[in-house]
Amino acid sequence: MKLWMVNVIKEMEYSQMLRFSRHIMLPEIELEGQERLINSHIVVVGLGGLGCAAAQYLTASGIGRLTLFDGDIVENTNLQRQVLHTEARIGTNKARSAKESLESINSHTEIQAFEIMADEKLLDELASTASVVVDCTDNLEARNLINQFCVRKKIPLVCGAGIRFEGHLIVFTMEDDTPCYGCLSNLFNSPQLSCSESGVFSPIVGIIGAMQASEAIKICTGAGTVKTGQLMTLDALKMETNSFMLPKQPNCSVCGN
Ligand SMILES: [Zn+2]
Repeated sequence: MKLWMVNVIKEMEYSQMLRFSRHIMLPEIELEGQERLINSHIVVVGLGGLGCAAAQYLTASGIGRLTLFDGDIVENTNLQRQVLHTEARIGTNKARSAKESLESINSHTEIQAFEIMADEKLLDELASTASVVVDCTDNLEARNLINQFCVRKKIPLVCGAGIRFEGHLIVFTMEDDTPCYGCLSNLFNSPQLSCSESGVFSPIVGIIGAMQASEAIKICTGAGTVKTGQLMTLDALKMETNSFMLPKQPNCSVCGN
């Protein structure tokens, strides 16, 4: 056994080691990776369909600290896909509702719920120490704000989207020569679709949210490869995926020269 393993075992309680044993036995994660997860701080913005799925897997996986932002309340029409919210919590703030469910999954994760959408000042105050920011919002204004913050602080950003039967996933690691969300949003001028107008297939946000958790966990542990700027699309009706690499836009108003 390597020396660092001995030290990690000393630090991690036996019950925690048992709990995460199925992670620890993965050669890409091992004890060291699980310890990194336990020491990670992840910010999830938006606790709708994507955020519920992402936060659920992050918490179950043993992330040490989660910060949640959402200013909306749980509505009847959300329950079809936002799986951390319950009938009894209709009318409750979504961040608070999610925190309550997440704490029953893993009481060791320190969860802070902010019953407000993140703005620049709040992100500066509460997200500057984040290992990763997971963007689970559903509007361009919020996405641009979160992207600007992550570019400025060089914090990896995991973006997801789901509408109708279609899902999107893209990760930005924010190194100097890599694109940002602004490089993508500059490319389209089409009006945004909303779930209330277009409809959304329940599992699509679960699938994409779980993928966001997967990429965030890979960033925290160092497992596998994260392809920065790769846009993946999923068509659940055909169960087909497509991927393409987004180039950095030299004239991007956020990360460009
Ligand atoms: Zn950019």
